[in-house]
Amino acid sequence: MHFSPRPHTLAQIFLLLAAFSTSAAAATSPIQERADRFLSLANAGYRALTTVNQEAQWRAVTDVTPEHDAASETAGKAAAAFNGNPAIIKEAQDLLIHKSELTELAVRQLNQLLLNAAEGPMTNPDLVRQRVEAETKQASLLNSFEFKLNDKPITANEIDNRLEQSTDLNERRAVWETSKQSGAALKPNLVKLRDLRNGVAKELGHPDYFGLETAAYGMTTDQMLAMQENFKRELRPLYLQLHTWTKYKLAEKYHQPVPKKIPAHWINNRWSQEWTGLVEAAKLDQYFAGRTSEWVIKTAEQFYTGLGFSPLPASFWSKSDLYPVSAGDKRKKNTHASCWHIDLQDDIRSLQSIEPNPQWFFTAHHELGHGYYFKAYSRPEVPFLLRTGAAPGFHEGIGELISLASSQVPYLESRGILPRFQSRCDRVSSR
Ligand SMILES: [Zn+2]
Repeated sequence: MHFSPRPHTLAQIFLLLAAFSTSAAAATSPIQERADRFLSLANAGYRALTTVNQEAQWRAVTDVTPEHDAASETAGKAAAAFNGNPAIIKEAQDLLIHKSELTELAVRQLNQLLLNAAEGPMTNPDLVRQRVEAETKQASLLNSFEFKLNDKPITANEIDNRLEQSTDLNERRAVWETSKQSGAALKPNLVKLRDLRNGVAKELGHPDYFGLETAAYGMTTDQMLAMQENFKRELRPLYLQLHTWTKYKLAEKYHQPVPKKIPAHWINNRWSQEWTGLVEAAKLDQYFAGRTSEWVIKTAEQFYTGLGFSPLPASFWSKSDLYPVSAGDKRKKNTHASCWHIDLQDDIRSLQSIEPNPQWFFTAHHELGHGYYFKAYSRPEVPFLLRTGAAPGFHEGIGELISLASSQVPYLESRGILPRFQSRCDRVSSR
């Protein structure tokens, strides 16, 4: 059914008036002019110090040495000295008192400034100094940690490969326990960091560090916990079914009685983040034989160019650190995958230790999801302060979605990883 359109509904007229008054305010309001001047300075300083800080941190995670740690610590302090400067905090707070007279873009930037400031508020310089030092120390301990199995060094990739392949429960347990050695080494400084982080967050009125983290989502601690509880409640029926099926399947695999809870070393992933290798037909390792690590990351880029995005900048390929440290090389680097927006513009880099296997294939697709978001933010209309995800979990959600997409049969066929005939037969037989 159609109603004949009226020239303007009341709501449309209000919208027009609102748009008119906003643009008029943007052009004339002294408070908006003051915010614009302040934000152009804040964006320039934020960008410059972020670049220096990230460059120093990048060096420290890709080549762990006392010199690089020291440079990273100094850069971290310089960034905090600007981001947490009391004058910046005061001006942002003062301007936000006049929120209703400011554009939404200005309000968002001012809120982001205060979130950044809360990470290192120079209203308490001694506390911030201690935090930056403890963070640098923690990163260095983690990045240079050497796992040892039976007194012999073992890399993180080797740990993952053994957990993926071994069916010997004694060996699995020894390897899994090896993967937890870093916890004991990290604990003393982490306890110190907990108190420093909580102290820093309280400076700008957050209840604790967790409260500062949830503020980045625009939520309170209670709201965040309620949301998590709700997720768990909704997923519980599905989780119980999957858990039951998995424990029977694993008991059969290891010739053990069915346990009440699944022992952690029975799962292939050292954090039990994923339960892989349970279905024979879903095992993809064999299809990666003969592939190279370079092929893995190039294929991941093609996923995005195939969607119509432009290729990654040339500097991505010259400045990233994508492959494991070669045998015999003494260099120590962080073994977790990550993606970096060094200068908040075109300098996008990724840190990985890619090997030609399914796990790194999916991870490479995930990481480039971050990279393509960084590329998308790097436009003149997006202020440097806002070149970040809608919330800290947003990128991860999208990255995981793309990682999942990269594991689907039609995509794997299109890349020549799965032979086409096999999945067609599967589809016919499943009908
Ligand atoms: Zn991620």
